[in-house]
Amino acid sequence: MEHREVIIVGAGPAGSIAAALLKRSGRDVLVLEAQRFPRFSIGESLLAHCLDFVEEAGMLAAVEAAGFQFKNGAAFVRDGEYGDFDFADKSAAGRNSTFQVQRAKFDKLLADEAEKQGVEIRYEVRVTSIDTSGDMPRVQARGPDGVDYDISARFILDASGFGRTLPKLLGLETPSTFPVRNALFTHIADNVPDGGFDRNKIHVMVHPRHRDVWFWLIPFPQQRCSIGVVGAKEFLDAQPGTPDERLQRLVHEESFLHRLLANAQWDTPARELSGYAANVTSMYGKGYALLGNAAEFLDPVFSSGVTIAMRSASMAAKVLDRQLDGKPVDWQAEFEQPLRRGVDTFRAYVRAWYDGRFQDLMFSKTDARDIKRMICSILAGYAWDETNPFVKDPERRLSAVVQLARQNAAMTA
Ligand code: FAD
Repeated sequence: MEHREVIIVGAGPAGSIAAALLKRSGRDVLVLEAQRFPRFSIGESLLAHCLDFVEEAGMLAAVEAAGFQFKNGAAFVRDGEYGDFDFADKSAAGRNSTFQVQRAKFDKLLADEAEKQGVEIRYEVRVTSIDTSGDMPRVQARGPDGVDYDISARFILDASGFGRTLPKLLGLETPSTFPVRNALFTHIADNVPDGGFDRNKIHVMVHPRHRDVWFWLIPFPQQRCSIGVVGAKEFLDAQPGTPDERLQRLVHEESFLHRLLANAQWDTPARELSGYAANVTSMYGKGYALLGNAAEFLDPVFSSGVTIAMRSASMAAKVLDRQLDGKPVDWQAEFEQPLRRGVDTFRAYVRAWYDGRFQDLMFSKTDARDIKRMICSILAGYAWDETNPFVKDPERRLSAVVQLARQNAAMTA
């Protein structure tokens, strides 16, 4: 039976970053990826913080040279009201910009960069079972020829994203605390003339009648965009027609998008995803740890998925490197607990988005610049920075400022 030091399941952002970091520490790493790249993936608007991990993995120059769409913040639109965050105007130190990426190209680039650094990636190899009962974990993998083979390793990192390979095989899945939501999305030729809108920002629009239904517009180069709608499963399921008809009708119900996309060409079939929010009982166990979406996924609204995936990869690679050197490590204290702190910060903001608090704050007329700068740091991805009061105590802080904003709005009404 083949034996390796580390097996990584999946070559998405979490897998490629973890693989490169471990390889840079001199580890023998094998990545098993079920698909052939390039392949479609959703999750196209990056946060500034995720480039810190791209840089750590030695891939920043390649990403910067690839011609991705520059991104410097996020804009929110509701009933004709507009508010935006510019990452340069944040309280924490850190990057002021990032990119919006077609993931087929971005993920292939990261995987290719990992290979250039010496990582072995086997494509079209799916991990189908795992055995953690012995001294060393063992996986069974099915290659493109349909033949199964066993590989053992000193450690396995599951970076299989929504595949959630180990959580499913080891019974670690636990339901998300969020209601089941769906997303309908596609890529379009937007045909918006230069200056028609700020292409350097992701735009998030609220449906005029359903405050928990929202749209994303993620600009790419050459007048192309990713567009999607997110809503409760029952709401999107109740929309009649094909996925393309449902998506286009909903988009045209929102006045900003209706005007902006008047000349758009809907040239790509829409896709639908349902019930993507997920959680696990534990992010690690004997001989394995879970990265990125294989562990938990919250919600797309603040574009936090790839940043959390890369941060988990960076944190796990450091703990694992020390463990493989025979040093004592504590996965709970050094990986799961600190990772969850930032995830929980985003969770508080996602909750506040859907219960209306974040929207009321965003569209309030108060000019609380310091507060906006602290929130901007989180929206840029710096959700683990405990010097930021809105990270340290997100629920209480958010509720307090929203209450003030609502009082101000009532007084000026
Ligand atoms: P993935 O990118 O999913 O990669 C996992 C890889 O594992 C895949 O290539 C898959 O083929 C492979 N794999 C799966 N099972 C197996 C197996 N058994 N054996 C071998 N290989 C396997 N995030 C953002 O940052 N910004 C956004 O704007 C954003 N928008 C989103 C919109 C929606 C509607 C949704 C649902 C999510 C969005 N996300 C966004 C989240 C983002 O998609 C994920 O967080 C991100 O892709 C996670 O990366 P990953 O490396 O963990 O997994």
